[in-house]
Amino acid sequence: MQAYEGASDEEAKARADFDLRWKVALGVALEERPFAKSTLQLFRARLVIHERMQTVFRKSLDFARHTGYLRSRRLKVVLDTTYVLGRGAVKDTYNLLADGIVMLVRELAAGACYEAVEWARERGLGRYFGSSLKGEASIDWDDLEAREKFLGGVVTDAEGLLEMTRTALERIPSGDPGRERLHDAAALLERLLLQDIERREDGTRIKQAVSPDRVLSVHDPEMRHGRKSAKRRFDGHKAAVAVDPESQLITAADVLAGNAADHERALELVEQSEANASAVVEETVGDCAYGSGDTRKTFADAGRRLTAKAATRRGGAQFPKEDFRIDLESMSCVCPAEQKTQKVVSISSGDRYGAPGAPLRAFRFDAVVCDACPLRSSCTRARLGKGRLVMIHPQEALLQEAKAFQQSEAFAPYRKLRQAAEHRLARLMQLGARQARYFGRAKTLFQLLMAATVANLTLVARRVGLMRDRNHPQTIISIHLYALFMVRHVFATLSPRSEPGFSATLLEHVMNFSSETVAFWHGNSKTIPKRRFR
Ligand code: SF4
Repeated sequence: MQAYEGASDEEAKARADFDLRWKVALGVALEERPFAKSTLQLFRARLVIHERMQTVFRKSLDFARHTGYLRSRRLKVVLDTTYVLGRGAVKDTYNLLADGIVMLVRELAAGACYEAVEWARERGLGRYFGSSLKGEASIDWDDLEAREKFLGGVVTDAEGLLEMTRTALERIPSGDPGRERLHDAAALLERLLLQDIERREDGTRIKQAVSPDRVLSVHDPEMRHGRKSAKRRFDGHKAAVAVDPESQLITAADVLAGNAADHERALELVEQSEANASAVVEETVGDCAYGSGDTRKTFADAGRRLTAKAATRRGGAQFPKEDFRIDLESMSCVCPAEQKTQKVVSISSGDRYGAPGAPLRAFRFDAVVCDACPLRSSCTRARLGKGRLVMIHPQEALLQEAKAFQQSEAFAPYRKLRQAAEHRLARLMQLGARQARYFGRAKTLFQLLMAATVANLTLVARRVGLMRDRNHPQTIISIHLYALFMVRHVFATLSPRSEPGFSATLLEHVMNFSSETVAFWHGNSKTIPKRRFR
């Protein structure tokens, strides 16, 4: 219900207290205040810790089966990704280090039973507790020497704190919950120093190049720099979804690092789709981000069919590989000037093409042929006496097969199929998935799965005629009742008795919720005539 209405915890509590529609769905009396804000936070935390987020999402597919909307047990799924802006504040190196220092100071002060600001002031670290270390520093930022001196002071403070942490860790017994928090805060600060600071004999400097896998935010250390395109960047995570193009249902969702390749964990998404939808995935479709040789090999090794466009390189000054006809059976290659070669040479290792240790080979066109060729200037920039090489990819056979297929007429329907995932991603963005509400990938996955659950439920409800106008009272009550039914199921399967803190007021209300109400709703859903797809 919260995800459907895009409500914050505070708003959700207020609506449950004062909104009649929520009260009807929750089955609570007019004057009742069914739960506290912290109950929602606790419930969410428990779902994440117990990895039961998928349970709620799976129920949306059960609903699709229950209503008869999803009938097929054999699916095609389309994979796609989009970016999610992280919740943590992204700061420059100075303020990032200051945040790391503050975090470590808090843990050290807590261990010494001190108030953090007081503890810091006593040790000359009070400046890190202002609104902005950089903003409050009275130095000339155009002066390189002053900047480096200031940075040197920050690095010295950080190193001093790390030394204190080593001593403190020796005193804290293993198993103490504070020990792990202190260790994590120190590890984060160490990582920030390592990724951003270059130590030289003449002082410390900020590294010019961005470190791979750079931590951007102390508040959400899992956020990463990612790219929307070659020119546009984002800071956060990547949402990956699998969609059944026939029913338009989202069958699986995942959150990847912002700098991860789109095809990362693609096979897991397909396997999750099968488990979630209780169906067999016969074919997976993706755009050219899923068309690399190693993704094809991963799917081929798992005995799965993957249809994805193989990337082509056109528009450059020289003839791309696509202009050469490669025949792997006869191991021959014909160039644009109709010269044929069968000469294969080893050029390097296939490490960067997903085949570690495998020798990388290429067809060689000899210099004697190329030097006399009228097309030479369009083919190679090598000096005279050097021929042309055409690389043989470690998964060349799979790529050749894919390229042949994408040039055939049979490939045309697949272009449309890919739109299904794009449309469902757009729906998730409409439900607020573009901006992470929480810190960390696990909770962002929770948000994505809740949005996917709502997207599926509303899609099915509309298609089977359960849902009319969004603001129609019956519509809202129908969706709310089903959401409640799912919550009730999840509570029941989380063994709340073993965790008394989990059973809060909401659980009491959910468990006491009249089973007749759910039965009534289910009964009604069967009597409502199914409509044709709109
Ligand atoms: S330069 Fe060599 S490889 Fe290129 S088109 Fe001419 S003959 Fe063929």
